[in-house]
Amino acid sequence: MSDEFVARLRRFQTRYFPRYRREYQRLVAEGQHPRTLFIGCSDSRVVPYLLTGAGPGELFVVRNVGNLIPPWDASHGYHGTVAAIEFAVLRLGVHDIVVCGHSHCGAVAALYEDPIAGAPHMNRWLDLARDAALPVTVSEDALRRTEQRLVVLQLERLMGYPMVAARVEKGELFLHGWHYLIEEGRVLVLDVERGEFAPTDIAPKDAGEAPSVYQLQ
Ligand SMILES: [Zn+2]
Repeated sequence: MSDEFVARLRRFQTRYFPRYRREYQRLVAEGQHPRTLFIGCSDSRVVPYLLTGAGPGELFVVRNVGNLIPPWDASHGYHGTVAAIEFAVLRLGVHDIVVCGHSHCGAVAALYEDPIAGAPHMNRWLDLARDAALPVTVSEDALRRTEQRLVVLQLERLMGYPMVAARVEKGELFLHGWHYLIEEGRVLVLDVERGEFAPTDIAPKDAGEAPSVYQLQ
């Protein structure tokens, strides 16, 4: 590990943690009760806590290449993403599930490219995304549309999970589709009734403020 990371670990321990020691200790004593399951891409530019202003204990996060959700098949394999969804819904009782896609997603771009040599797992994993691909010549516009279609596809898959569908139908669980535009610093949110991703109406007064009370300074 680089000296830079060691220095950052020390900075967390000595500068950040003491300010929030009580909050961390409360989260240990009371256990975690996050209200939101965040399903996002592994992309290093997607930073869920920074994006949402959430602090420790607020998000249960599962990330993978392409923010993909396998179809429910009850095959009881080593399905990490499926296990996380089961745990979040059945054990933690989350109130919301966010599927967050993003611009310039490598998984989406890969749908329009040749398979990656020597990466059979990656190429097979991308099968979960192929239905989102458009039968067009690739372009920036096509990639953005595919990223959004991909989010919708995952939300549809989530409704194939019995424990998800049951809670959604009872009004106990809500699903959300996001498309994070990295270069613009904003998130488009799926409007199910209009069938499109639209800008959020975040109050302007929030602009410029630190995104989280947990922000490292
Ligand atoms: Zn991605």
